[in-house]
Amino acid sequence: MSKPLTAPATIMITLPDGTQKELPHGATGYDLAASIGPGLAKAALAVVVTNAEHPEGKIFDFNHALQDGDTIRLLTKKDPESLEVLRHTCAHVLAQAVQNLYPSAKIAIGPAIEDGFYYDFDIPEHTLTPEDFPKIETEMKNIARVGQKLQQRPAEDAAALVQKIRGEGEIYKADILEKYQDNATLYYCVDQKSGEDIWFDVCEGPHVPDTSWIKAFKLLSVAGAYWRGDESNQQLQRVYATAFWSKDDLNAFIERRKEAERRDHRKLAKELDLFSIKDEIGPGLVLWHPNLGVVRQQLEEMLKKKLRQGGYDVVYTPHLAKRDLWDISGHTSHYLENMFHMEIEGQEYLLKPMNCPMHTMIFKSNLHSYRELPIRLAELGTVYRYEKSGVMHGLNRVRGFTQDDAHIFCRPDQIKTEIIDVIQLIDDIFKCFGMAFDQVELSTRPEKYVGDIDDWNNAEAALQDALKEYGLDYEVNEGDGAFYGPKIDFKIKDALGRSWQCSTVQLDFNLPTRFGLKFKDSDGTDKQPIMIHRAIFGSLERFAGILIEHYAGAFPLWLAPTQVAILPIADRHIEAADALAKQLKAGDVRVTVDTGSDKIGAKIRRAELAKIPAMVVLGDKEAESGTVSVRWKGTDKTDETLTTEAFIQHIATTVGNAF
Ligand SMILES: [Zn+2]
Ligand SMILES: [Zn+2]
Repeated sequence: MSKPLTAPATIMITLPDGTQKELPHGATGYDLAASIGPGLAKAALAVVVTNAEHPEGKIFDFNHALQDGDTIRLLTKKDPESLEVLRHTCAHVLAQAVQNLYPSAKIAIGPAIEDGFYYDFDIPEHTLTPEDFPKIETEMKNIARVGQKLQQRPAEDAAALVQKIRGEGEIYKADILEKYQDNATLYYCVDQKSGEDIWFDVCEGPHVPDTSWIKAFKLLSVAGAYWRGDESNQQLQRVYATAFWSKDDLNAFIERRKEAERRDHRKLAKELDLFSIKDEIGPGLVLWHPNLGVVRQQLEEMLKKKLRQGGYDVVYTPHLAKRDLWDISGHTSHYLENMFHMEIEGQEYLLKPMNCPMHTMIFKSNLHSYRELPIRLAELGTVYRYEKSGVMHGLNRVRGFTQDDAHIFCRPDQIKTEIIDVIQLIDDIFKCFGMAFDQVELSTRPEKYVGDIDDWNNAEAALQDALKEYGLDYEVNEGDGAFYGPKIDFKIKDALGRSWQCSTVQLDFNLPTRFGLKFKDSDGTDKQPIMIHRAIFGSLERFAGILIEHYAGAFPLWLAPTQVAILPIADRHIEAADALAKQLKAGDVRVTVDTGSDKIGAKIRRAELAKIPAMVVLGDKEAESGTVSVRWKGTDKTDETLTTEAFIQHIATTVGNAF
């Protein structure tokens, strides 16, 4: 006969430092904190539970009942994860406030996201606008001020509750509860004094203990979103917002956001005439206007020089190819829905989404000996990828773009040095823009992979060695590599401290097999080369967008569409201005003459708005003396007087040293 199951009177909890705490059965996070000290009971707001069920650790509410054997970390405001708990709780407060103000509002979901949170509403009789925000924020403040207790409770008779709230029109909440009804939990706001339930939502948490923790928040914007992200469902109103532990943190965030808006490349594109995307051409297809054309030319010049120095061969390949090529490469079996196609003379053609198969065909055109390797083929290859028009975003997400692409075909023993050279190249290039590595990630073999396990192990070791030898800190994303090879992703930090994924180095054991690539090794046998895909900027379009925001449109001298604005003081100085412009152009300087009839002050202002790096004011004195009086943008220095030759020389030297 087995003994009756009785709960033990106490449970044993382990703290992160290994110390053990014995607590009464049913003890909560709060009880644990209180057993350590009253200060901690006040400072902590949630628990991170690690046990067999949650080996990675999971955040629970502070009133979560701890289990015997749990390892518990108490979460305070100092822990970065706690911000998510605050933000998600604030989302419920937003929902509660909206329902208080708009009684017909139905609530859907409200997760924390990067930099904040959102909540989705269905409000039949009202379309929310930012004008409604102050009113909603005031209501949220009221809810926060009274300090409603927040409790997590299991949904006891879930089926009945589903029916009840569906009857009240809360169809989204009912759907969620129905889906999770076997072990659904509810979020309750409880009145501090009366102990009565005031409001509830369906949610598994985690939340802060009560609403008084919410002190600094702001509603940011409102946008349309479909229920469950499905366009065939009801469109909801999504309110984006954010919350921080302190007003200072919130204000700093709002300032950063304003600065990012001021630098938005789509806004600057209009002000500075940089690029456009037209309805008649189609979404995600970019027109580079002359001003951004100059920037691109400079980027291309830089690349050409670095490629020559790096031992690359430049190739050019067509924008489309017969289906046959994409059948060999495998694109038709896993990438077809992203490819544009057409039929000509009964033959199917596909626009290239990648350059790789074209480069393998070039490699394959000749026999190669081991002595010739590595062969590095580079191309500014324009590719087309179908993406839904809804996700297009300025230069960040487009359908047609040019990659600064290259493929290195090498022997296995050359992987490490090739990778080091690529890292050096990436480092050198981004330094020219005052940008540095932010994060470097190595992604290794996934469960499903092609190729030989030894090749994978050797390649991964070579990548690690290269990163170490270069002295880069990196993270390993175990099992996150593509099925065909490990890769390194490089994130770059811009002037606002934002991180951008640009460069990638990807090893490939798949395409060389599919295309039957080989080289003659020193022992006379045929071997398969290693293929390395690498891009530095990634896409020139996207990188141009990053650069516009990085410089806030004020490009440095070497990239500036117009480097010098000559501003004649009066009409009688135009002739001398034109003569000076001619001289500067001959010295390869990009120059414009402002022949407007307005006063010099207006001309200076115009040049400043156009963010031109140098202004030359030309009056009687300069016209006679043949000198130039230069005002450099962004410096407090008074005008500098130089000879025309010295001015041209100065610009040439600055540009020449840029890369
Ligand atoms: Zn919740
Ligand atoms: Zn490639």
